[in-house]
Amino acid sequence: MRISDILAQRQSFSYEIFPPKGDMSVEQAEQVATELCRNSPDWISVTFSAGGSGNSERTADIGRRIERGVGTPALAHLTCLGSSRADVDAYVRRLQSAGIENVLALRGDPAPGREAIDFSYASDLVPHLKDAGMCVGGACYPEGHVECESLDADLEHLKAKVDAGVDFLVTQLFFDNEDFYRFRERCARKRIKVPIVCGIMPFTSKKQLQRMTFNCGASIPARVVKRLVAAGDDEKAQFEAGMTYACEQIVDLARNGVDGIHIYSMNRPEIGRITHDALVGCGYLPA
Ligand code: FAD
Repeated sequence: MRISDILAQRQSFSYEIFPPKGDMSVEQAEQVATELCRNSPDWISVTFSAGGSGNSERTADIGRRIERGVGTPALAHLTCLGSSRADVDAYVRRLQSAGIENVLALRGDPAPGREAIDFSYASDLVPHLKDAGMCVGGACYPEGHVECESLDADLEHLKAKVDAGVDFLVTQLFFDNEDFYRFRERCARKRIKVPIVCGIMPFTSKKQLQRMTFNCGASIPARVVKRLVAAGDDEKAQFEAGMTYACEQIVDLARNGVDGIHIYSMNRPEIGRITHDALVGCGYLPA
């Protein structure tokens, strides 16, 4: 099923997983997806790593298992830096033969050996994927993309990307919902009319929070820091602080009429269950 059709019908609930890397097998990743699907998500997205972990080959594979085996729509990510048109076409053929209709069009992060070949920005990739008949999502950044000099310039680029054919947007993680509400208003003023799905990453520890915010430039509100200080060095307490905060955050988003909520599950089914139950509790999802 195309995600644009889902979003035309209802507010969505979805998860992100990453394909197997390191010691994880494809079967274990499929098991994670199966457990997450017990909560009836509208789709599961599967990340794409063109870099060091080199698991991009497995994005289409695990996506196929989600679509065909588990019976849930898959959203396959694709980054375009370092890829030629022929590479992208081959990837799209793999997705289509796996029954996958949805792709998240991304530029990816620049790295040595990953320079632009046929695509410099995600907005170059979008029309190519649309021409191939895919339902295409794009990334957006409520606090601005880490490389961009101003929020206005970033929004200008986002508008060009949407006008190139994006069907829906998924945000980078954020911890202050006010950042998202301001972003949503700016998008409306800019006549960016596609649905915007909120990507929420519950923090699981102090270390993980520092790593992920440093990588993407998202800010950490003082109230998050206070909760982590209260949790001290107790890893279980840090995890619980992260889950409690994420649940409060998504319940507030649900009450403020967002188009969708996408949980960065980090391949942990318990994160999927906890966030799902919070959304059932507030009436966003059926019991
Ligand atoms: P773009 O939309 O191309 O924007 C990149 C930067 O260029 C921005 O600063 C933008 O303002 C600027 N820009 C855009 N167009 C122009 C122009 N014409 N002229 C000048 N500047 C311009 N990374 C992965 O490697 N794998 C993943 O699976 C993955 N999944 C992600 C999922 C989500 C929901 C998000 C939010 C990010 C994800 N990323 C992933 C990270 C992403 O690849 C990086 O954030 C990357 O740096 C930007 O990708 P983009 O598609 O947003 O780029």
